[in-house]
Formats: sequence, C-alpha cells, structure tokens
Amino acid sequence: MKAVCISCGNQKTEPYKQCSRCGFRPTDDVSIAKSIVLSSRFRKRQTDEPPSKDELKAAARLIEAGDQYPFDERDVRRVLDEKAIALQPLSSAAKWQLGRFFALLFAVPIIATCIWLFRKFLN
Ligand SMILES: [Zn+2]
Repeated sequence: MKAVCISCGNQKTEPYKQCSRCGFRPTDDVSIAKSIVLSSRFRKRQTDEPPSKDELKAAARLIEAGDQYPFDERDVRRVLDEKAIALQPLSSAAKWQLGRFFALLFAVPIIATCIWLFRKFLN
C-alpha cells in the first residue's frame, strides 16, 4: 500500500490518483495535502520517515469504518507549505536574472558600438 483514499479508505498507488472504489479524486489543496499525509510520500515531522504500512492500514480501517481520520493540522499545513514551494513556477526571479544577464551581455557591445559610431560621426 502506498496511499489511502481519504474518502473511503481504499488503497491507491499514488495519493493524487482517483480512487478505484469510490471515485474520489483529491483536487483541492487540502484534500491533496491530506491524501499525501496518508501515503508513503509523506515524511513524518518527528522522524522524517514515511508512515509505516501498519499506520496506513490502521488509517484505512478507520476511514473504512466511517470514522474521520484525525489529521494533524500541522502535518497538513506542512504538506501545503512544501507543495506551495514545489508548485512555484521555476522561479520568475531566476528568469529575471537570466534575462538581465543576457540584456547586459547584448547591451554592452551595442552601447559601445553606439559610442564608437557617435564619435566617428563627430570627427
Ligand atoms: Zn475511495
């Protein structure tokens, strides 16, 4: 087992996949974060290790029994924060710097040429 459906407790291969039993597919950030918490992708705060198979099975049994899994808000928040970082488009700041670098690379010879032409026409 790699992930647990947070809606029915079924086993899934990936936390963000659609459940083959109940059809639930996490689409909003919180559902995705909760699905990741109940998967082997998650790293626990205390140990930095994924939840054990037994822990995932216990969570699955709880959800299958119709109970709410007691998600730790801090775990969900942590996944949301990490996800926000991971989902940031490959940093617009980095693109800016790259753009500035090339602008400078081209600007220097162009300006130098302009100055050279300007002086040539003055003489
Ligand atoms: Zn399900």
